[in-house]
Amino acid sequence: MKFSTQLVLSIIGITILSLSVFGGIAYWIIDDGHNQNHNELLKHITTIIHKHWLKTDIKTLTQPSLNEIYEKFATPETLFLIENIDGTCLVAGNTTLPPSELASNIASSSKKTDTAHANHGTLKMDNHDYHWNTSQLPNSQYRLTLLRDDSTGQHQSDIKLGMRLLTTSIIIIWLAVWLSLLLSSIISRRLKEKNEAIQYQAMHDSLTGLPNRSLLFDRIDQAQLTSHRNKIPFALMIMDLDNFKEINDALGHHFGDLMLTKVSKIIQETLRENDSLARLGGDEFALLLPDTEQDGAIICARKILNSLKTPFNIKDTRIESSASIGIAFYPQDGDDAETLLQRADIAMYQAKRTRSHYVIYDQNKDSDNVRQLKLMNDLRETIKNDQLNVYYQPMIDQRTGCTIAAEALARWNHPELGFISPEEFIPIAERTGLIRKLTLSIAKQAMHDCKQWQDMGYEMMIAINISTHCLQDQSFPKKLNQILQSSGISAYNVELEITETVLMQDIGRASQILQQLDQAGFNLSIDDFGTGFSSLAYLKELPVNTLKIDKSFIFDMDNNEDDTAIVQTIIELAHNFNCKVIAEGVETANSLQQLKNLGNDIAQGYFFSKPIPFEELTLWLQNSKWNPAYTTKKLKEIMM
Ligand code: C2E
Ligand code: CA
Ligand code: CA
Repeated sequence: MKFSTQLVLSIIGITILSLSVFGGIAYWIIDDGHNQNHNELLKHITTIIHKHWLKTDIKTLTQPSLNEIYEKFATPETLFLIENIDGTCLVAGNTTLPPSELASNIASSSKKTDTAHANHGTLKMDNHDYHWNTSQLPNSQYRLTLLRDDSTGQHQSDIKLGMRLLTTSIIIIWLAVWLSLLLSSIISRRLKEKNEAIQYQAMHDSLTGLPNRSLLFDRIDQAQLTSHRNKIPFALMIMDLDNFKEINDALGHHFGDLMLTKVSKIIQETLRENDSLARLGGDEFALLLPDTEQDGAIICARKILNSLKTPFNIKDTRIESSASIGIAFYPQDGDDAETLLQRADIAMYQAKRTRSHYVIYDQNKDSDNVRQLKLMNDLRETIKNDQLNVYYQPMIDQRTGCTIAAEALARWNHPELGFISPEEFIPIAERTGLIRKLTLSIAKQAMHDCKQWQDMGYEMMIAINISTHCLQDQSFPKKLNQILQSSGISAYNVELEITETVLMQDIGRASQILQQLDQAGFNLSIDDFGTGFSSLAYLKELPVNTLKIDKSFIFDMDNNEDDTAIVQTIIELAHNFNCKVIAEGVETANSLQQLKNLGNDIAQGYFFSKPIPFEELTLWLQNSKWNPAYTTKKLKEIMM
């Protein structure tokens, strides 16, 4: 049953119930009123009889005087009875009963009432219901009883009362119906508004007020119908901000929220009225452009990218943004919302990977892209479940010939796709922001394994690769410290490798975090040194203690004199800055010897060992001539 019907019925029900109760009360009051009126009339008549018929000289009442009284005061429904104490009775009015029988009926009716010698009551005579009131005539031996035939009078008053009650009921019910209709319309309107608000929330993003994924799907369905009818394709774009994660981490979530709201407004201003902008979550937006072919979509993408390039202010901070856009078209790239979105997503990741700002989905490149998407999704799960493996590659001190450290390198053995190179999955992790979790997960495992080696007597350090994304995250030093505390090793046993090229991209913010890590006692080294363009001034300012020469210079040292010269320069430079030097990519005894001649401190490469799992490196350490136990134990013996 509809809510409004329920409301109308219940209000009418309550009205009828209250009408019955109040009707009952009214009837009782009116009935009581009748009795009172009757009594009043009797009193009045009694007084008049006393004044006129029972003057002091005439002390007897005769039938004619009673008839006279009757004619004066009675109505067709009433009759009078006069009883003398000597037992004689006179009656006046419309009755066929003998007066003595009437008197005895009144007497027995009086006995039936609760109060003894009651002065009113009811009795049935001659198929008539009589209501009687009785009164003693003052200073005389007479008692006067007034009887009213209720069968006719009562009936009429009942009808009158009934009519009144009926009229009142109709008016009240009519009012109740109106009232309930009014109430139900107010309540229904409120409910409707509430429902609309709930529906709006279910279909819109709470932060930006833009349509969400569900509403976008609805609109895509609509666009499909129109496109089908008009035979004009439509475009679906997916847009992801390029620098949002860094801004969010560095300036806080509130700032990030303000930025998303601002960006959504900027984009909306560039769109046509019938285009739709939706937020899919995080910094990912979708745009639906009805009646749009390739040229139109490209113009729109460029307009959006240009508008984002114009700097805008958020809380007095000047920001400019950039984005990557992937574009797919209906019907050529898919005939349902899901497929179209997936393909626009693939194109968007391609735009990110190739830094081409916008890319139109191309079926021919799809297999490559599908793999990227699969890896992206699976990597998220793998990291979440701590299922990435860590391999270790030893680092040998060239002065003592002993292993002094191991570099932790992430390994991913995909259950379906087999071994995935870190060269492939690390960039994916960086692009998707998974790199921070990945780094912490590798750090946790590496520090734990380092503790194991220490417990076995190998005084080893552990080198962990840190992505630049971690250096934009204010909470990173704290999180790393927590992992360190629970591992049981010291910060000076940990070396953090930061790649030179990425370090130089945003040195300002990174240096703050590097200072914190340095203060916490971690060793910091610049990885792949020589491939970037490190300013010497920065090198002096950064709290770095190690330079790690990029392997490309070491590989060719045997044949290429230029590379040898570069290596020599880096070693001298590092030593001038009081930094140690690590040469990685040492594959031959010859290059190892050359490095030793150039004064290199530490060497790492396939010449010693490829990166291998913990257990294998433990065995390697036991059997290798580069055994660290030898160093620590022997050195301690020599020192003692
Ligand atoms: P990288 O930090 O420069 O790591 C050294 C890479 O050189 C490793 O490749 C290692 O296997 C390889 N290598 C070492 N010695 C030799 C050698 O003598 N000859 C040759 N041909 N190669 C050698 P891998 O493990 O494939 O890692 C590649 C890159 O992936 C690493 O370069 C690093 O940038 C990144 N990566 C690996 N694991 C992690 C990680 O846990 N976190 C981060 N952020 N990056 C990682
Ligand atoms: Ca490294
Ligand atoms: Ca390196």
